[in-house]
Amino acid sequence: MLMSAERNLTRTFGHVSPQDRHQLLGQRGAVVWLTGLSGSGKSTLAYALERALVSDRHTAYVLDGDNVRHGLNKDLGFSPEDRDENIRRVGETAALFAHAGVIAIASFISPYRAGRERARECVGGDAFIEVHLNVSVEVCERRDPKGLYKKARAGVIKQFTGVSAPYEAPTAPEISIDTDADDVDTCAARIVTYLREHGYLSAELP
Ligand code: ADP
Repeated sequence: MLMSAERNLTRTFGHVSPQDRHQLLGQRGAVVWLTGLSGSGKSTLAYALERALVSDRHTAYVLDGDNVRHGLNKDLGFSPEDRDENIRRVGETAALFAHAGVIAIASFISPYRAGRERARECVGGDAFIEVHLNVSVEVCERRDPKGLYKKARAGVIKQFTGVSAPYEAPTAPEISIDTDADDVDTCAARIVTYLREHGYLSAELP
């Protein structure tokens, strides 16, 4: 790959600091990164969290796996390389949202540890909050909200995470959630509490 200098690229800098944005919006930008198996509850929780934050007058926005694959990443499939590229692009996109001051809620299976760590580096600082939806394949398969496990077991869908493709669980997520034990609102409230306690939801500088 060519280096920036060889491509005649120079980074430019604006006149608005992260502190300016923080005070303007009354919040610090962050990425809440939801990772877990299909059916673990990422989309459901992402939209509940977004609703809770916006109702509380915060600026939050969901980046959801299926939606992003209809647009930004519609050229990508589910091979390991394409999954890597999918997460690389959404990591970069989530970082742009966070740098703009938004609480970006990323809802992606993101099965590989390395991909999630790269997204964390891209966002930078402590503003990457990894949330593991820690439920077993058995629970997800029992829910099977989109009928995907059934198709995967029948061999209609290949490379299905948890069935025929690996999922590397986080080893030290900021938050671990059991969506089998707690209901959606309780799970969302836990994340809001984390954000509040870590100074993301107030105009005061930490
Ligand atoms: P994913 O986005 O991870 O594939 P979905 O959100 O599409 O998962 O589906 C999760 C299913 O689990 C939904 O039917 C949802 O109603 C159910 N569910 C039960 N409890 C919870 C919870 N605490 N959080 C999120 N989803 C839950």
